[in-house]
Amino acid sequence: MNLTFYCETLSLKRIFRVATSAKTDAENIFVEINQEGITGWGEAAPSKFYHEDIQTVPQTIKKIAPLLGNNPLAIQTIHDHINTQIPGNFAAKAAVNMAYYDWIGKRLNIPAYALLGLDIAPQETITSFTIGIDAIERLPEQIEETAHFPLLKIKLGTKHDYRIIEKIRSLTNKPIIIDANEGWSRKEALEKINWLTQQNVLLIEQPLLADDLEGTSWLRKQVNLPLFADESVKTGADIPKLREAFDGINVKLMKCGGITEALRMISTARALGLQVMLGCFIESSLGITAAAHISALCDFVDLDGHLLLKNDPFTGIKINNGRIKLPDKPGLGVERIPPQNNNKKSDEIKID
Ligand code: MG
Repeated sequence: MNLTFYCETLSLKRIFRVATSAKTDAENIFVEINQEGITGWGEAAPSKFYHEDIQTVPQTIKKIAPLLGNNPLAIQTIHDHINTQIPGNFAAKAAVNMAYYDWIGKRLNIPAYALLGLDIAPQETITSFTIGIDAIERLPEQIEETAHFPLLKIKLGTKHDYRIIEKIRSLTNKPIIIDANEGWSRKEALEKINWLTQQNVLLIEQPLLADDLEGTSWLRKQVNLPLFADESVKTGADIPKLREAFDGINVKLMKCGGITEALRMISTARALGLQVMLGCFIESSLGITAAAHISALCDFVDLDGHLLLKNDPFTGIKINNGRIKLPDKPGLGVERIPPQNNNKKSDEIKID
């Protein structure tokens, strides 16, 4: 097994702002594993919020490499072994994990979703498109650009939340999901959610601080919209304590360490009666497509990170009128677009 990786800067079409941060580009790490002449691809989108960056991901991948063993088909065993040896560092783990699913699917000549026992039904899955926090006067342009998406996710957690939604409602009546990214106090959340209940909103993501589960449990009893955890949940181990506070969880490969853990999270959530959203970070079509392979298991899908990019280095899922079409090629079905001059490629390290 050869494992190589490199860092590449992905530029955004426009600045992406949420209640807690703003981004103009993302530095992601791409992993390539090779064995028996078969290549598996993976991607890490490190987030400082979760204590990862372009230094920690390569360091972690170098620690993971000696733990991989010589049977790449044993992905569950490999996943557990890595987790017992290396805490945290979930984006780095996700990159390696998805590269294995790509490799195994190609080795067995079936798409990853079929490998996971899932039907072709994900091809009908709707994804929401996220509108970040922007000036109110730019909202008409953004709503126009997203006219073909049947479901929008709107980032709130600002002083102008009412004005943002009033403006959006003057432009479209389509259903929306709200993500406050921990941006509200308890009182503010109660007032705003009660108002949002009349605004064709399907659910509220992360209204309060990640560790304010007591406040969120209180809030949930007062409001009539489902509350979903995002910052409050990373892996399966976080889920049982969220049961009283939330109606659902947002699963992201970069938070949990890849497809193997995401499947366990979904099983845990279902056993506890929680709904599931499948989300993403700012990722290329590689990471987004890896997540899309498990989208059939989720109630809400928010896989739009690649659509924010100017220079997506991969092809994978296609999105037509907000509906996801998975590639039906073996593995993840992604393909690398040959690097252009403006793509920075650096830090290529080979591990045998
Ligand atoms: Mg969120």
